[in-house]
Amino acid sequence: MAAAAAAPQGRRCLLLRTLFRGQLGIRGCRSGVPVRQQQQQALRVPSASAEEITKRKGFLSEHAAPFSAFLTDQFGRQHNYLRISLTEKCNLRSQLRKLEGLQTIAVTSNGINLARLLPRLKEAGLNAINVSLDTLVPAKYEFIVRRKGFHKVMEGIHKAIELGYDPLKVNCVVMRGLNEDELVDFVALTEKQPLDVRFIEYMPFDGNKWNFKKMVSYKEMLDTIKQRWPALEKLPCEASSTAKAYKVPNFQGQVSFITSMSEHFCGSCNRLRITADGNLKVCLFGNSEVSLRDYLRSNATKEELVQIIGAAVGRKKKQHAGMLNISQMKNRPMILIGG
Ligand code: SF4
Repeated sequence: MAAAAAAPQGRRCLLLRTLFRGQLGIRGCRSGVPVRQQQQQALRVPSASAEEITKRKGFLSEHAAPFSAFLTDQFGRQHNYLRISLTEKCNLRSQLRKLEGLQTIAVTSNGINLARLLPRLKEAGLNAINVSLDTLVPAKYEFIVRRKGFHKVMEGIHKAIELGYDPLKVNCVVMRGLNEDELVDFVALTEKQPLDVRFIEYMPFDGNKWNFKKMVSYKEMLDTIKQRWPALEKLPCEASSTAKAYKVPNFQGQVSFITSMSEHFCGSCNRLRITADGNLKVCLFGNSEVSLRDYLRSNATKEELVQIIGAAVGRKKKQHAGMLNISQMKNRPMILIGG
C-alpha cells in the first residue's frame, strides 16, 4: 500500500471504532510481567456525527451478522474482547467514558498514586481496578520495585474499597524464592475485605529473566492454600474466563488463579490486543504483530482494514507454544495500560 499523508487522528480513531464497535468489549490490559507501571492516559476521541453513525450501522450490518467472519479464526474462536494499550506513558487522563457503547473502563495500577487519584478517576467513569502487588512485606516491596511505596499501595487499596470498588482485584505474580511463602497471607486479606486476589503464574516475556524453576504452578498454589483452608471452594466461572476462582467459606472476598502456563485457556480465547504503538497482536504469547497504525496512516479503507485484521486473526495459532518453548521465543510484553 502506497504511503500517503497521515490521516487525522480523529479519522483513525473513528475507523477503528467502526470496525470493532458492537463486537468487542474494550478493556485496558496488563501483560503479567512483574514490572510495575503507572496508570495510563487515554486517547481523545471525537464524538461521531449522525451521518457517521448511520454509515457505521450500514457497515456493521454488512459485516457483523451473526458474528463477523473476520473476527472468527480457523478454530472457530470468536474474538469479542479487545485490549488496547493506550500509551507507554504514566498517569491517566480519561475521556474514554465518552466512547459510545463502552461498558467498562478498567485500569491496572501499581497503586502508588491510587489514593490521591481515585476520587477523580471514579468521577471520570472508572469502573474497575486491578492493583498489582506482589508482596505484603514492605522491605521486599522495596526490593522488587526499587523504591518505597508499599504503604501508599495499601492506602490506595483501602481508598478503592471505601469508594465502592467491589470486588477490587489485586494481581500477584507468584515467583518461587520471592513470594510463594506469602500465598496464605494474601488469601487472609480476603477474609474481611471485598478483594479478588488473583495469583498469576509467572510468564516469560523479553527481559524478565523467566526461568521454569521460578514458576509456581496453579496446582502447587492450590495445595499450599488448601493446607491452611481445606474447605476452599471453587466458584463457577464463564467459559471465556481466564481466571479460576475460589473462596474460603464465609470470607468476604475471593481468590483466583491465572493459569496461563500450566493450564492455558487458548481453546476459548476471545482476545485481541492493540499495543500502545498501534500493533495488532492476536496472541499474547505470539511474536507476530501487524501495524494498524501504519495502515491507518496510509489511509487504508475500512474494507482493507477488515481484510488486514481478518488475515491476522486467521493466522492465529491454536494455542501458545507450550510452557517450556515460549520462554525461547522473542515476545515483547504488552505495554500496560491500565486494565
Ligand atoms: S496464549 Fe494466545 S491463544 Fe492462548 S489464551 Fe493467551 S492470547 Fe489466547
